[in-house]
Amino acid sequence: MHIEVDSHTHTLASGHAYSTLAENITAAAGRGIKLLAITDHGPAMPGGPHIWFFMNMKVLPRIMNGVGVLRGIEANIMNRKGELDIQFDEQSRMDLVLGSLHEPTFAPRNKTIHTDTVVNTMASGRIDVFAHGGNPAFPIDADEVAKAAVEYRVLIEINNSSFTTSRPGSEANCKALAEAVAIHGGKLTLGSDAHIASRVGMFDQCIRLVQSIDFPEKQILSRNGRDFLNFLISKNKSADLSELSTLFNG
Ligand SMILES: [Zn+2]
Ligand SMILES: [Zn+2]
Repeated sequence: MHIEVDSHTHTLASGHAYSTLAENITAAAGRGIKLLAITDHGPAMPGGPHIWFFMNMKVLPRIMNGVGVLRGIEANIMNRKGELDIQFDEQSRMDLVLGSLHEPTFAPRNKTIHTDTVVNTMASGRIDVFAHGGNPAFPIDADEVAKAAVEYRVLIEINNSSFTTSRPGSEANCKALAEAVAIHGGKLTLGSDAHIASRVGMFDQCIRLVQSIDFPEKQILSRNGRDFLNFLISKNKSADLSELSTLFNG
């Protein structure tokens, strides 16, 4: 299975990642990635960039080394209301907003509160992707989250790093979440969550997981760059994404 979109990557700007944007682009091109989302941690994460880092992403060329660049953020979900560490007018400049629960910015509570928090975040209309939802530090009701993801048009991420370097014990939760997405007719996206260029575009563990449950390939949106871009365009992003469309013409 070839995956054309990496919807979750970090650069030096995150404070605990080790490659530049240019290095990530080169690695993505080498792996046949057509759309690369730059999704550094939101400002509330210790060591994360100032909000100006995100506001200035307009200086990035839309296409670099043949790879389409999505101006993204891995925003922190801050509270049960589903508020993020980026303001609404600020995120209007972004192409892609991931929402994540991280221990430094959201103290783990219980399954009911986590589920409520994720559903409220989705309902706010402010995220495109719910990232690494299989994290055992934040148990959730997979069925409720998958249903909300369909209702509010949010992609559920399967995160390659959850099976390698981060969030040990994610496997069973990720399976349950993917199974719920399959049942409710939602869509997955695969993210490398690379914190170094050599891991950009690596989805070996994600693919192993989805194949182990016979997850329907047509419900993996990130397989196809054009479909992924059309999904973003359909969400009425104010940023002009038309130049990226040229990657898929002809
Ligand atoms: Zn994260
Ligand atoms: Zn991340």
